Amino acid sequence: MSSQTKPTPESMRHHWLAFTSNRRFHQSPRLVSKAEGLFYHTPDGHKLYDSLSGLWCSPLGHGNQAIKEAITRQLDELDYAPAFNVSHPKAFELSEKLAALAPGDLDHVLYCSSGSEAADTALKLARAYWRAKGKPEKSKFIGRAKGYHGVNFGGISVGGIGPNRKSYGQTLDAYHLPHTLLAENTFSRGLPTEGDHLADALNQILEVQDASNIAAVIVEPMAGSGGVIIPSAGYLKRLRELCDKHDILLIFDEVITGFGRMGEVFGADYFNVQPDMLTCAKALTNGVVPMGAVITSQEIYQTMMDQPGDEYSIEFMHGYTYSAHPLACAAALASIEQIASPAMMEQVRALSEVFENAIHDLKGLPLVEDIRNIGLAGAVQIEMDPAHPLKRASDISARCWEKGVYVRFGGNNLSFAPPFISQPQDIHEIFARVAEAITEYAKA
Ligand code: PMP
Repeated sequence: MSSQTKPTPESMRHHWLAFTSNRRFHQSPRLVSKAEGLFYHTPDGHKLYDSLSGLWCSPLGHGNQAIKEAITRQLDELDYAPAFNVSHPKAFELSEKLAALAPGDLDHVLYCSSGSEAADTALKLARAYWRAKGKPEKSKFIGRAKGYHGVNFGGISVGGIGPNRKSYGQTLDAYHLPHTLLAENTFSRGLPTEGDHLADALNQILEVQDASNIAAVIVEPMAGSGGVIIPSAGYLKRLRELCDKHDILLIFDEVITGFGRMGEVFGADYFNVQPDMLTCAKALTNGVVPMGAVITSQEIYQTMMDQPGDEYSIEFMHGYTYSAHPLACAAALASIEQIASPAMMEQVRALSEVFENAIHDLKGLPLVEDIRNIGLAGAVQIEMDPAHPLKRASDISARCWEKGVYVRFGGNNLSFAPPFISQPQDIHEIFARVAEAITEYAKA
């Protein structure tokens, strides 16, 4: 198949699409063959707004010149370096930058190539840490309903989205806090007011499981894939206090919230809560080269370094061929230099107000049963058709595509996370087209 033509049914069979109904895709394949700035282009010349910055990962838009140049320069110098027993200058430069950016004493960086790998790396490190402390029985995890931590076995164990687990049999021992979606907060703007008390559910889990068995609690500061579910202002603080009280590590999965999505570099900054580890990926490289990372506290790092053994012992028996890949490090340095600037964060906060008004203008449209937003992230929840739970949001997204907007749907939510470089008129245009799509769909 050439890049100019539609795939034939025969050629399509060979590419098994990720997280996709391939049967539906085969009926109406959607292809993009070019991207620039805020837009995707299809092979037949259709131009679409990218309303989710790819999959939450391209806040600087597409074709960012500085990232392109950084990768090209790196390719000329060093295309790959062994990740074990050898490293390269860009890996140290990036780690120093990340340590400086990450809150508090999160100063030590382990690399991988995705958010899923970052989650499983963090969970393994949590267990290894407690073993190093002489408490191997602290091995179970606590996640949260509707939470998403990728698709590896650790991630689906702590994840709280049922369909992502149901085909895979036994998972790790994990328990789940309730999600923070409350009826009283329906259509609330920004941080919801109700819900701090939901953190106390940790006490109920510990009453049965006992803290002496629990390694870590892992949550997203804002649950993105579950449908932009935002905790109330004091929820994470309360969770932190309970984790401290019971000697349990707190891990923030910042794969979506990391690098500015909420107008602060990290969600931890936004909520002013210090985790023991933080995972990130996606916007770390603006989505251009796959990369994930776990940034961990001084206490965890030092405990691992102080384990018995000599200079030949490996402190953490874990890593990937592509950990700290030179091209990813080059892309990350160029990306975070642009994202993590006070001017860019100010721009995100200013645009967030426009975004909040524009997304909430959809209130009152048929089928719209809730709208949530924080920073430059938001979701429009569509009334589910009980007979076809996955149909409506999927069909509305298809109509948005026809109207020139790529919209991601998950369950009964339409999710939005436009690039930070959007102008107010782009935000208005996106939601005007989405409003048309919803209205026409509801009528039909
Ligand atoms: N954690 C969170 C919070 C995510 O949003 C995602 C991806 N949407 C992941 C982990 C998994 O990342 P990846 O798809 O890169 O493995």
